[in-house]
Amino acid sequence: MLVVQKYGGSSVADPERIHRVAGQIVALREKGHDIAVVVSAMGDTTDELISLVKEITDSPPDREMDMLLSTGEQISIALLAMAIRKRGRPVTSLTGPQAGIITDSVHTKARILNIDTRRLKKEFSQGNIVVVAGFQGIDQAGGDITTLGRGGSDTTAVALAAALQADLCEIYTDVDGVYTTDPRIVPEACKLNVISYEEMLELANLGAAVLHPRAVEMAVNYKMPLHVRSSFNTNPGTLVREVENMERALSVTGVVCDHNVAKIGLFNVMDKPGVAFTIFKALADEKINVDMIIQSAMRDERNDISFTCSTGDLKNALAVVDRLQTDIGADGYTHSDAVAKVSIVGAGMISNPGVAATMFKALYEEGINLEMISTSEIRISCVLRDKDAEKAVKALHKKFALA
Ligand code: ADP
Ligand code: ASP
Ligand code: MG
Repeated sequence: MLVVQKYGGSSVADPERIHRVAGQIVALREKGHDIAVVVSAMGDTTDELISLVKEITDSPPDREMDMLLSTGEQISIALLAMAIRKRGRPVTSLTGPQAGIITDSVHTKARILNIDTRRLKKEFSQGNIVVVAGFQGIDQAGGDITTLGRGGSDTTAVALAAALQADLCEIYTDVDGVYTTDPRIVPEACKLNVISYEEMLELANLGAAVLHPRAVEMAVNYKMPLHVRSSFNTNPGTLVREVENMERALSVTGVVCDHNVAKIGLFNVMDKPGVAFTIFKALADEKINVDMIIQSAMRDERNDISFTCSTGDLKNALAVVDRLQTDIGADGYTHSDAVAKVSIVGAGMISNPGVAATMFKALYEEGINLEMISTSEIRISCVLRDKDAEKAVKALHKKFALA
């Protein structure tokens, strides 16, 4: 059997935990399996590196950010490999580039294009456990180190599992699995034994940190089931896999909150063909991911257009909007990053009328004002004041009886 395991930052936060993880890996190896282990940087290392940058510059080049942030994972692969070796097992640590992880050239949010598995297979054939640095690769064009975006070690693990056609892909983290909402916000949240790919993708895209969205995308594309579980105990975790319709009893599966949201509103934009194209093409050219887009009802040949993006992209998005405002005839614009997006997700929602009304009622009962709303088949999202987000999550979790 070939097993891919991923250990997140908190699972390798200190030497004691690294030893514990090494013990677990060696015990699995003793059963005769080939093992590729993906590790994140220890504890808060990545955040600490980012804080360091802030003391040097406000606008670090993305290439140098990748050069810096990739060092966190390089520390943990070496230490974990040493801990495994200490237990007498042959092991090789590999950086992303050494493991053959080829990406595009979009520094700080690179996408994996391909994995050249020759080195990995050679290591397995020599009986070695392989420990791979998460969240990094090498860009095809320039040969530089890239990173996959915050939380990207999950994506490394799923990509390796797919490329190696692994029998099992386990994501070890600091909670027992995927819960109905973040258990750190709502302690009564329940662990889900199984969740469908679509629901997990939606939760991840909407900001549930437990899995990186692109990891889930890749799991869907390669039909790779994932087992999300705790590295601190042996409890069974959550299986992320294809789920038959029959198994879907609940209308709402989870509640999720994303604080990494900023809102921009353009006033009195001309109402004529090509205006939306001009705005969103210019944003796309700057590689700014736009999420919700709302155009108000037309009056006097004018519209208001608002959209959301990540807080990290706000500065660049404002520069684009500022540049375009005269061309599109806007009277001005407003922005805020003191907002959050709170969403409910559930594959059964579409066949349950009244879910939206119930959601809005719960928020109204808490006196929470909704600034933007958007819906899809399996989710409803509201943008609201950041300070109301936690209250909103708790109220929705309770209203939909998820505890
Ligand atoms: P790792 O370092 O292992 O990758 P992360 O911090 O990236 O761990 O992800 C795990 C965290 O995700 C949990 O500690 C939890 O606070 C958060 N989280 C958010 N939403 C959920 C959810 N629905 N279920 C479980 N955990 C969640
Ligand atoms: N160390 C990186 C981060 O903190 C990648 C990861 O942990 O998945 O975002
Ligand atoms: Mg993570």
